[in-house]
Amino acid sequence: MKITAIRGFRDILPDESGLWQVLTSQARASFSTYGFSEIILPLLEKTELFARAIGETTDIVEKEMYTFTDRDDSSLTLRPEGTASVIRAYIEHSLHQKEPVSKLFYIGPMFRRERPQKGRYRQFHQIGAEILGRDDALIDAELLLMLNDFFTALRLDVSIDVNSLGCATCRPRYRERLRTFGESKFAALCENCHGRLQRNPLRILDCKEEGCRHATIDAPILADFLCDPCRQHFGQVQTLLHNERVKITVNPRLVRGLDYYCRTSFEVLALGLGSQNAVCGGGRYDGLVEQMGGPAIPGIGFAIGVERLAMLLQAQERQNAEAPDMFIAPMGEVAENQAFAVARRLRQDGYRIELESGRRSLKAQMRRADKLAVPYVLILGENEITAGKGTVRDMQTKTDRSLAVDLSASAQDMMKAIRASDV
Ligand SMILES: [Zn+2]
Ligand SMILES: [Zn+2]
Repeated sequence: MKITAIRGFRDILPDESGLWQVLTSQARASFSTYGFSEIILPLLEKTELFARAIGETTDIVEKEMYTFTDRDDSSLTLRPEGTASVIRAYIEHSLHQKEPVSKLFYIGPMFRRERPQKGRYRQFHQIGAEILGRDDALIDAELLLMLNDFFTALRLDVSIDVNSLGCATCRPRYRERLRTFGESKFAALCENCHGRLQRNPLRILDCKEEGCRHATIDAPILADFLCDPCRQHFGQVQTLLHNERVKITVNPRLVRGLDYYCRTSFEVLALGLGSQNAVCGGGRYDGLVEQMGGPAIPGIGFAIGVERLAMLLQAQERQNAEAPDMFIAPMGEVAENQAFAVARRLRQDGYRIELESGRRSLKAQMRRADKLAVPYVLILGENEITAGKGTVRDMQTKTDRSLAVDLSASAQDMMKAIRASDV
């Protein structure tokens, strides 16, 4: 009988591994510009590490870990995530004594015994990063900016959801208020949420059940309960990102399960590929290092799901494969006639050409070209047309180049001239 891979464990074959190479190299490149160094961690740790870091009563620790007894009777676990190991190493090697701030990233497999489903595996991969030693708004914004740069470099259109989870001063008051609110809606909440009301009322806000979402629609929000320092911190994070034109949305439902999570919490969503897809999650965890037996040092980090990211990039590639070869943007009626002829000529030779009306503004036409993900736009203006010229805009580099439009040239030569900036 033939032996197959274990359920939920898969091979990444050469047709896919190239893409993995691209995205892990991009992570290394993007992260290094922000001063991060790689930390390479063991796959196997003592079970108690995760019980302490993630929490004994979490689904991960209770139901999903690959835990076994070693030959010397010690309990070992295949790591279900990366942060716990980073913190363990940070404390074990006293990195805080060697440098005031540590910026570390890791890339590698994690293991959770979840129900296998499309795009979810029991051995999955994460690209994660942690910053230890700073708790100011600037560093939180920097981390988010780095993520934005990384996804932009991969040409994945993303939006970042952010929230502030407050601190030990302001959150307890909110938690009690939310518990009271939840109890008033008790009958409408699911069984899971009934338990959450006792253990961690914040989690009723991110329940996926329709009934719970509906019942919590007018729940009090944490933003109204933040203390002044937390409010200022969150405000500054948002301002810094707005100034850098990073797309962020404040999402009051973005909460986390454990007490040590505080202030900035975030999720990166991939846009433009059907339903919104979370591709990365993270946040600040100022109490964790201390809880793990280290000094009181603040931290913030994230983890990117590599399988999910690879899937999105492949979907995007497919979408781009269907994009037109070129978009023609005529300006005015004279140019329109010329563009009509050029489009006809190119289409006859099999090129996919999108032709716009010359009556729409250049800005509107460019917006549409961007949406269609075309590589080139040929801009034909009245003045240029009389001079037998056009402008080619490379949509990837956003650069313009003047081009002689020779209507007597063959379609192939015309396309070659348009694509010439590639060589
Ligand atoms: Zn606070
Ligand atoms: Zn629920």
